[in-house]
Amino acid sequence: MDTTRSEALFAAAQGVMPGGVSSPVRAFGSVGGTPRFMASARGPWITDADGNEYADLVGSWGPAILGHAHPAVVAAVQEAAALGLTFGAPTARETELALEVQRRVPAVERLRFVSTGTEATMTAIRLARGVTARPLVVKFAGCYHGHLDGLLAAAGSGVATLALPGSAGVTEAVAAETLVLPYNDLTAVEEAFATHGDRIAAVITEAAPANMGVVPPLPGFNRALHEVCSRHGALLVMDEVLTGFRAGPGGWWGLEGAEEGWEPDLLTFGKVVGGGLPVAAVGGRREVMEHLAPLGPVYQAGTLSGNPVATAAGLATLQHADAAVYARVSTVADAIATGLSDALGAAGVAHSIQRAGTLFSAAFVDPAEGPVTDYTRAQSQDVFRYAPLFHSLLEQGVHAPPSVFEAWFVSAAHDDAAVNRILEALPAAARAAAA
Ligand code: PLP
Repeated sequence: MDTTRSEALFAAAQGVMPGGVSSPVRAFGSVGGTPRFMASARGPWITDADGNEYADLVGSWGPAILGHAHPAVVAAVQEAAALGLTFGAPTARETELALEVQRRVPAVERLRFVSTGTEATMTAIRLARGVTARPLVVKFAGCYHGHLDGLLAAAGSGVATLALPGSAGVTEAVAAETLVLPYNDLTAVEEAFATHGDRIAAVITEAAPANMGVVPPLPGFNRALHEVCSRHGALLVMDEVLTGFRAGPGGWWGLEGAEEGWEPDLLTFGKVVGGGLPVAAVGGRREVMEHLAPLGPVYQAGTLSGNPVATAAGLATLQHADAAVYARVSTVADAIATGLSDALGAAGVAHSIQRAGTLFSAAFVDPAEGPVTDYTRAQSQDVFRYAPLFHSLLEQGVHAPPSVFEAWFVSAAHDDAAVNRILEALPAAARAAAA
């Protein structure tokens, strides 16, 4: 495979941007080699600067549920762009998109648009602190909520100890306002509340974590979090930036909370809600949300929030994400997850296929010890097996996520040709992982 252009472009990029990228995982740091510089994408296919075409399993990390450059989304964007790129004033489309979100997730009584998932979780945390007048936030190890200082925190020495900075540049004082607990561990949650209960503003959790590989919540875990929070006067923030409108029409909550009859206080959305352009949102209970400026004392704002072109992409995407789309995404996820497991099994590679609805990833652990349920186990896997698997796929024209700790994203545009390209590439890739 000729990668001359990507190599030259990477060298040029490194001369002007740290690591040559705008977001770290794109640099191929954990798999090595030259990141492919992409030039175009359509449906399930993505083409690099050298003209190599790949079946895409990244989907821009989630937004592309309809596939790349869906004609209806592109048309909506073109139409909106021709009318002006940004107004800094309200538009009818923001209300339309907010109503579409509310129709799918009735817990969203009020919604505020922002531009990134990070902004959404940051706003949710500030809101929770503003509403409860409490300082602490509980998060779970291995859950990612964006790069806000307070959530770039690492677990302290014990379950109920305050966290340490998880990145240079995060102060100890800020990290100490976060408690980092093991995922899926209700005892740890109870213990943290027993020690700090009257100071905890919120628990934030990925609705179904997919940033330590896919690690689904144990049955009843999210509902129990909701119950513990209610008991202690803290808010539950369900981060659906990744799962929202991907796991199903109502996101992960639609698969779980809707069935079980409970609602989080706040939800955050991103990725699919913007259809590939920068739209994200925080929503939830009216009395909580109305603490936001201009109605309430919690400040939040954004020059490009609710941008008319971006909301056009989001609205067109949600309008086309119907039952048939979710059914196709599910069928494709089943086919590839099964193919991956079969290939790894045939190559003798110990693994667990981690599934949360249509999200999946492979973890290189001993399946006899059960699936991965927390970050400690996710980190204990044979990480070294992923780079050869990844590079074998890439050479065969399959663009998988360049880290074992990411989910594999499929779309409704993954037709038989794309699925077959992936299924045919998996056996050799699994043999590479076995070596
Ligand atoms: N929350 C979750 C669950 C995510 O997966 C991400 C990004 O991957 C974020 C928040 C942050 O979103 P963004 O990258 O748009 O800031």
